[in-house]
Amino acid sequence: MNTNRTMNEQNASSDTPLDPAEALALLEFFAEAGVSELVQDTPVDNYSLPETVKAAAQPGAAPSAPATGGRPLPPRQSQSQPAISTPAAIPLDGLQEAETAREIAANCKSLEELRAALERFDLCALKQTAKNLVFSDGNPQARLMLVGEAPGRDEDIQGKPFVGRSGQLLDRMLGAIGYSRENAYIANVLPWRPPGNRTPTDGELAMCRPFIERHIELVNPEVIAFLGGVSAKQMLGTTTGIMRLRGKWAVYSIGGREVPALPLLHPAYLLRQPAQKQLAWRDLLKLREKLSSLPEA
Ligand code: URA
Repeated sequence: MNTNRTMNEQNASSDTPLDPAEALALLEFFAEAGVSELVQDTPVDNYSLPETVKAAAQPGAAPSAPATGGRPLPPRQSQSQPAISTPAAIPLDGLQEAETAREIAANCKSLEELRAALERFDLCALKQTAKNLVFSDGNPQARLMLVGEAPGRDEDIQGKPFVGRSGQLLDRMLGAIGYSRENAYIANVLPWRPPGNRTPTDGELAMCRPFIERHIELVNPEVIAFLGGVSAKQMLGTTTGIMRLRGKWAVYSIGGREVPALPLLHPAYLLRQPAQKQLAWRDLLKLREKLSSLPEA
């Protein structure tokens, strides 16, 4: 992977050039991720690349733009990756609430209806302690959807996902592969902040899961990234840890559709363990490869 090219793509993908602070942040992310060479860790045989790819790799060539706006729902490609499993069993606490949540979510025909239904949903205790509902941010027409765990303090105050320190790192991670909130969509498994950022209970996760499932179904992304262990395990219905899940493509099945889904290390974890940015970078390259392999919208 050529770092310069990534930065060119970043510039080309938004019409405005990076401002110096953004460029510096991006460089810092690359440096911390161990990107010190302008080559990939696996060799590329340029002679075997199709002409179109070679042309796109020429300096100054525009990258294939990720889709935004007014996108018709594409037919789903059949995926060869194995599905990890069916959704996790619903724990007994929260069973009734999860059932009610499922009925409510299923009746929502749009993102606006889903947001309004969550504003009215009073069965989850997290809502009582949270300041705001944190529904989503970014472009709902995007081909890429990211699903985090739960809002923190800054997100709770602003009512938007990933706006604190981990959100800034997430923006840099997206920027490193030519994405941003203009061509990606972001939501969380839980739309309310757990008090003091404590780990969500199984009951809370179970009663909020129907909403995020419907959220994904309504957005209809072509590629999903699950950020962190809670999100990946919950949404893929597995107890396997994030260190084994990360960077391996899974299939997320919803509404009879199969969507390629990649578990990634959570940006908050990367802030605590900066050395792991090397792993995050490898996974981001896989994400970028998948996105650029999608048929033109
Ligand atoms: N961490 C998350 O998982 N989601 C947010 O919105 C913020 C931090």
